[in-house]
Amino acid sequence: MSHSDDSNDSLDLSYAPPKFINNSRQRVIFVDFISAIYELVFDVNLQTATVNSNILFFSDSNGFPAISLKQPVTSIQLDGEEIGLEDQDSPDKEASFKILTKSVQPGRHELKIANLITEEGARGLPIQWLSAPNRLHCIFGMSDIHRDGGFLEAYMPSNYEYDHFRMRFSVKIINSTVEHSIFTNGATISTAAGEWNIDYPAFYTTSCPWFHLGPSDEYDLLQSEFASSDGRTIPILVYSTSAQVQRGLELERFKEHAFSVLGELELDFGPFPHDSVTIFATGIGQGGMEYAGATATRLGSLRHELDHSYFARSITPANGDAGWIDEAIASWGDIDYPSFASPPLRMSNMGQRSAYKRTTSRDAYTVGRDFLAHLDFVLRDRGGLRPVLADYAARKQHSTVTAREFQTLVESFYGASLEDLFNKYIYSETPTPFEAGEEDADALNPHHISPEELFDDVFPAIDK
Ligand SMILES: [Zn+2]
Repeated sequence: MSHSDDSNDSLDLSYAPPKFINNSRQRVIFVDFISAIYELVFDVNLQTATVNSNILFFSDSNGFPAISLKQPVTSIQLDGEEIGLEDQDSPDKEASFKILTKSVQPGRHELKIANLITEEGARGLPIQWLSAPNRLHCIFGMSDIHRDGGFLEAYMPSNYEYDHFRMRFSVKIINSTVEHSIFTNGATISTAAGEWNIDYPAFYTTSCPWFHLGPSDEYDLLQSEFASSDGRTIPILVYSTSAQVQRGLELERFKEHAFSVLGELELDFGPFPHDSVTIFATGIGQGGMEYAGATATRLGSLRHELDHSYFARSITPANGDAGWIDEAIASWGDIDYPSFASPPLRMSNMGQRSAYKRTTSRDAYTVGRDFLAHLDFVLRDRGGLRPVLADYAARKQHSTVTAREFQTLVESFYGASLEDLFNKYIYSETPTPFEAGEEDADALNPHHISPEELFDDVFPAIDK
């Protein structure tokens, strides 16, 4: 590995939660994944999905490494030795994850894990097996408001959000005569019929990859190109299930809206920070979810989700306590960036709950949004908050942010402390409870979507 990789390792770890001693007097540490190769095999006859992961990680100290995985493990080896995985709570009980049952010394280590995909992910079961003829749909759906996070670890071994690492998915479908298509936001090549390699950009974190497989003849695709303000030609894929298109979903409307949104976002925040745009267009009853240069969304949430390609999946939150920033930005944009002379209606703690927490506070959609609208007013003599966000988008592109870093950046633009405002509305030690009659964050939340809805959309009624 090159020297620059090493310096990256220590940068990622500077955003990791604190090490701690657990009840078994073991020192639990957080590590830096350097690369992960995931071999996925979907056997359509046996209806099994297996993953063999080969993870290279760096540790800056001795201890028992924490990793994240929510599917059943069939084998695990650390540096060639059989070990186990144990459940572990954070010291404040705000999060749970796994630790390896063997400690490591500082340096590089190889972790091999085999797991099945049998359990529900962040949005229900990830795989739908179909017969006559044998085929499957698979979506690694994610959620930032799912308890304990619902990112890649819902399907395969992964790390906390602070970690940027190279990922390769090596995918194989066996025992199917049906042609399948793959939809991803990585560099994808087909190596044989039913086989693909996907290389995701090195800046991706556990929340960034979009991965979707399905029978080719059950999807409709619309391809186009967006001319970015920086001269790049950015390919845009809008697709949906043929069943949904037959029920009236118009891919063309998604495409046109995407072009207009991308044009606005580039004017406000600079060139689109990804090399492609992939939009899985879903039905009207649904919310949306953001990925890096990709989204699964209904038309009404498309602007919100593409906004997240700048804020959330280019600048990635270090943890759940930084998640409010991108939800507040996207929600402020959803109401067209108003300026509020008054601060939010209630105090909140969405930015200082726990360094171990992976879930974004739902207050981000209401209190967080109104907080930014108020900051826009406070900064009115300097052109408001939008120029700050444009500078932020460029300066922090493809890197991690914490709530405190965001505060510092806004303060440096303002030229004075904003500590009182942040203490009251972002880090409050005495947050005001949600009151009836107030706008309901869940109702507003464009990410709110039931697993049933997602599957309704993907899987034709005849198969249910
Ligand atoms: Zn959002």
